[in-house]
Amino acid sequence: MQSLITHYQQLLVLPDSWQVVDVRLSMSGTRIEIYLEFIGSQVQCPECGKAGRIYDLAPEQRWRHLDTMQYETHLIARIPRCECKEHGVKTMKVPWAAKYSRYTLKFEAVAVELLQHCSSIQAAARLLRLSWHATNEIMNRAVERGLSRRSNHAIDHLGIDEKSFRAGHRYVTILNDLEGGRVLEVVQNRTTEATEKLLQSLEEPQRQAVKSISMDMWKPFAIAAKKLLPQADMVHDRFHISKYLNEAVDTVRRQESRQLLQAGDRTLIGSKFTWLRNPENMTESQRASFEKLMAGELKTAKAWALKNMFREFWRLGCRDSASFFFDYWSERVEQLKLKPMIKVKELLKRHFDNILNYFKHEITNAVSEGLNSKIQLYKAAARGFHSFSSYRTRILFYCGKLNIAITG
Ligand SMILES: [Zn+2]
Repeated sequence: MQSLITHYQQLLVLPDSWQVVDVRLSMSGTRIEIYLEFIGSQVQCPECGKAGRIYDLAPEQRWRHLDTMQYETHLIARIPRCECKEHGVKTMKVPWAAKYSRYTLKFEAVAVELLQHCSSIQAAARLLRLSWHATNEIMNRAVERGLSRRSNHAIDHLGIDEKSFRAGHRYVTILNDLEGGRVLEVVQNRTTEATEKLLQSLEEPQRQAVKSISMDMWKPFAIAAKKLLPQADMVHDRFHISKYLNEAVDTVRRQESRQLLQAGDRTLIGSKFTWLRNPENMTESQRASFEKLMAGELKTAKAWALKNMFREFWRLGCRDSASFFFDYWSERVEQLKLKPMIKVKELLKRHFDNILNYFKHEITNAVSEGLNSKIQLYKAAARGFHSFSSYRTRILFYCGKLNIAITG
């Protein structure tokens, strides 16, 4: 038995003041329990670090540690309480765990790493043999730790995006650092008030340093940005605008499909995603059926052609050519007389200055798109979220590029 205790003493690498006094296999035979005792004569106050006298021992506590072989391993100890002249009686710090944590630092570090590699809490919880709630707690603490370590460096280009959250048109609004490719903060709703709260998550000097903010043509976003980032250019970029164009094409398709169906024509049935793909991303069979659709006299095909034509706009690189192109494109839209397309054209016209800002800041649209699809992935993995706060935690954990490492 003595050799086993010495063995664990060596494996745990604890300071001399902590001694392994017993190692037991639990009654159920599934757990190893390691009993530790403090044998130092002096303790340090956790507040000021000054040495003080041992007042008494706190009640027994237990920490989950990394497994020994396949056995769950726990550390058990009574922590001395220090009597400090200035701070009174306080429980001292232990070298193996953070304050209030029920896990050792080593266990929590592995848990965080596992969470980073799993796309759901459930998967990580199963591997750790922890409950969903306990695993979720570890993720919460990691996000809090990461947020508290964030620097307040200037961020030149921001992006605001909305994301639907649960059914029934509930939304969250997300603030991105476009150059850093990371999510900064997430708030509930997409109102002016919510957007202001989102922007206020940045410190005042940070807000003043923002050069541009890329966003959808949604009024509350613009109102909040004007108020809190008056010097920043608003940019409506490709990512947000292609969404409107895609929706317009889809509206044309639905209307046309309904008309065709009344005449018994099923040409457009099941074609929704065909019109969303760009030709260069189609497989051979997708391209074949797409070309068949395009060869006909469909209104949807014409709307699609206008949408596709607009992709050229972003490649023009300067405001003058872009304005010229837009006039030309607008005329084509007018000629076609398709209401959903005309509506988008009018919308773009109203926000044209902010659209042209795209060429001034050259913000990569890929960042918004990339973050959005990443968020979508974690959302799918969790099959919807129970509450806003857990949705926010997940987004920040996986897309916040936070420094969440455990430092012992
Ligand atoms: Zn003290």
